Amino acid sequence: MRLQNKITLITGSGSGIGRSSALLFAREGATVIVNDLHEDKGQETVEDIQAAGGQAIFVQANVTSPESVQAMVDTVIGRYGRIDVLFNNAGVSGVGAIHEVEPEAWDRVISVNIRGVYLPCKFVLPYMMERREGSIINMSSCIAEIGLARRASYSASKGAVLALTKSMQVDYASYNIRVNALLPGTIFTPFVEDYLKKSYDNPEEAIESIKKRQLSGELGRPEDVANAALFLASDESRFMMGSPLYIDGGATFG
Ligand code: NAD
Repeated sequence: MRLQNKITLITGSGSGIGRSSALLFAREGATVIVNDLHEDKGQETVEDIQAAGGQAIFVQANVTSPESVQAMVDTVIGRYGRIDVLFNNAGVSGVGAIHEVEPEAWDRVISVNIRGVYLPCKFVLPYMMERREGSIINMSSCIAEIGLARRASYSASKGAVLALTKSMQVDYASYNIRVNALLPGTIFTPFVEDYLKKSYDNPEEAIESIKKRQLSGELGRPEDVANAALFLASDESRFMMGSPLYIDGGATFG
């Protein structure tokens, strides 16, 4: 068991990569705090974990709201006394080149994807600092490093998360807190389905062109990213600090 007795909080774990990570973390012995904006989706993840004999609770919170995030962290600390792993996974997609993006849509992507990392870190870090222990995993994307068409707000947000990860690592290394980033390529989840529908007249054709862009010739699976998250959450990655971890089927290099 690679996460035995670890208290792990995964934002946005009612769907996709977060959900897959929650199931895997629980299988590896963690107690998983499943967070999502949507209670029904989060509860489903919890039920699946419990049905498999794992430990999980759901805590609803909007990662862009300080009150909501503080209440979530208070609930977890009140019940378990600590948080060993924080996986900032919640995120939304954004489509359009700069001139096509309306300010409200821009603000939403920037808020969920950056403020939604900042706030859980802000409220969890004091507890990790006190115990001088912790692993924080921030969800960036390979788009932080490569230019893709019509993804202005999303690229900006994920580039910021990567820069924030490095800056945080410098600030918290002396507290024995590791902060690393995941950079997935295109992983087939509801998020990607939604993006494809909004962006292309023919989503099937789009999938084929994405496959060609990734050296692997295929889209990734949520489990591919969950395995990388497990590694960063566990002590096996003890010597990784402020690192970007690519799970992109070669998209960054292709
Ligand atoms: P998903 O849409 O399947 O899951 C995201 C979850 O986050 C949803 O359950 C949603 O309800 C939740 N969420 C959204 N806003 C929230 C908020 N304000 N507060 C709390 N929860 C909120 O998406 P996914 O594909 O699993 O993506 C997860 C993360 O991985 C995102 O940060 C995304 O940007 C990143 N990512 C995904 C891909 C991909 O190809 N799927 C690639 C690179 C990075």
